[in-house]
Amino acid sequence: MTCLSSVPSPGGYVAAIRAAQLGLKTACAEGRETLGGTCLNVGCIPSKAMLHASEYYEAAAGGAMAKMGIDVTPKLNLPAMHGQRVDAVKGLTGGIEFLFKKNKVDWLKGYAQFTGKDSVEVAGKTYRAKNIVIATGSSVTPLPGVAVDNDKQIIVDSTGALELAKVPGHMVVIGGGVIGLELGSVWRRLGAKVTCVEFLDQILPGMDADVRKDANRIFKKQGIEFKLKTKVTKAEVKGKKAVLTLEPAAGGDAETLEADVVLVSIGRRPNTEGLGLDKAGLAVNQRGQIETDHDFSTQVPGIWAIGDVIPGPMLAHKAEDEGIAVAENIAGLTGIVNHDVIPSVVYTMPEIAGVGLTEEQAKERGEVKVGKFPMAGNSRAKTNHEPDGFVKVIADANSDRVLGVWIIASVAGTMIAQAAQAMEFGATSEDIAYTCHAHPTHSEAIKEAAMAVTGKPIHI
Ligand code: NAD
Repeated sequence: MTCLSSVPSPGGYVAAIRAAQLGLKTACAEGRETLGGTCLNVGCIPSKAMLHASEYYEAAAGGAMAKMGIDVTPKLNLPAMHGQRVDAVKGLTGGIEFLFKKNKVDWLKGYAQFTGKDSVEVAGKTYRAKNIVIATGSSVTPLPGVAVDNDKQIIVDSTGALELAKVPGHMVVIGGGVIGLELGSVWRRLGAKVTCVEFLDQILPGMDADVRKDANRIFKKQGIEFKLKTKVTKAEVKGKKAVLTLEPAAGGDAETLEADVVLVSIGRRPNTEGLGLDKAGLAVNQRGQIETDHDFSTQVPGIWAIGDVIPGPMLAHKAEDEGIAVAENIAGLTGIVNHDVIPSVVYTMPEIAGVGLTEEQAKERGEVKVGKFPMAGNSRAKTNHEPDGFVKVIADANSDRVLGVWIIASVAGTMIAQAAQAMEFGATSEDIAYTCHAHPTHSEAIKEAAMAVTGKPIHI
C-alpha cells in the first residue's frame, strides 16, 4: 500500500512518517527544496526565531534589562539575526529529511498533480497509489489593488516580512490577525513605527471578546497604532515607498498613508489550484476547501485530505494531529482528532492563547460561570515584570465542565496545554482548582481563575 502526500505541510510529513511507522509503503511529494511546508520554512519557525531575537533586543533597548540591573546599549546586527533564523530553519527541515530516511519514506521531488483517482504525476513521472493524502496547505489571500512583490521589499506578505534587509521607518500592516500582530511586533521591537489597519471593529477575530479588547490595549501601549473599522483599497509603489488608500469600512472619505513597507496579512486560502482535482473527481466547496468526513476521507474512496485544505482553523498542530489520524485510518486503525479542543496561540509578548469556546459562544449554548484572574496577581509574573494579561476559565453553570480557557500572559502558549489536556479529560473547574500547581509559576493563574469560577481565588 502506498500513502502519497502531496506538498507536505506539517500535516503531510507527519502523515507520511506515521504511515511508514505503521508499515505502509510511503512516498511524499514536495516541490520545495526542503521539507516541512510553510510552517517550518516560512511560517511558525522562522517567525519565532525573529520574535525571540527581537524580544532580546527590546529587553536591552527598551529598558527592561536595565530595570533588572543590567545596563547595556544594544547594537542591532540584522544580518546576524537573520542568520540565526536561517540556521533554525535549516536544522529543523534537515531533521525531517533525516526522519524520512530513518522511516524509509520516499521523497518525490516536485509538485504532484492528479492524473486519475489513484494516480499522480510528479516531475514527469506517474505514481499509482491505493491511498493518496492531500496536504497542500494554504497561501496568502491576495488583496485586490495591493500587489505583493517580496523581492522589492516594499509590499510584502509574511514570507517577505521575515526577510527584510533593513528595519522599515514606517510599516503598515493590513489585517490585525495573527500574522500582522506577530510580524508587526518583530519590526516594532527593532525600531519601526507600526500602523495596523483592520477591517473589523476589533483585532484578533474569533478570539474571546475580553482577550481581543485587552490585547488591543496592550499592543497600543507597546506603540502599535491601530486603524480599526478601516479598509485598504489600494497600495501603489512610488519610488522606495508605498502610498496606501484607506477608507472607513462602512464607506466614507478616503485618506492616504505612506509606508516604507506594507505587510499584507488578511488571511490565507487553501492551495487547491493546479492539483488536477477534476481528474480525481474531486470538487472544492465555496471557500475553496476540500470537504472530508470525520476520518478525513473525501468523497472519492482512497483520497484523503488534511490540514489547511480542509475546513477548520489553519494551524500547524491541527494539521499534524490530522496527519497522524489519517495515517492510522488508512492503516485500518481508528484515528481521531477532537476539533473542539484545538488550542490557538499568538506568539506576541505577552502571548495570547485560547482553547475551546469563547465566553460569547458558550453563552449562546447555555448558562455559564466565568472565573478570571489577572497576571498582576500572580507572584511569578509580577517578579518577572510581566504584569499584563489574565486567565479566564469558562465553565458550564450546571455541570461545571470547562468549556473554554483564554490566557494573555508571557508564557500563555505553554500554559494553554494544561487547559487543553484538562478539557480533553472532561475536567470541571473544580478539578483544576484542586490540582496542586507548582509555586511560583505563571500556571498558578489558571488554578486561581478556576477557583474564581466559584468566587474563591486567594490572591485577589
Ligand atoms: P487572520 O485571519 O488571522 O487575520 C486577518 C485579519 O485581516 C482579520 O482580522 C481580518 O478582519 C482582516 N482583514 C481582512 N481583509 C482586510 C482588509 N481588506 N483590510 C483590513 N483588514 C482586513 O489571518 P492572518 O493573520 O493572515 O493569518 C493567516 C492564517 O495563518 C490564520 O488562519 C492563522 O491562524 C494562521 N497563522 C497562525 C499562526 C499562529 O498560530 N501563531 C501564526 C501565523 C499564521
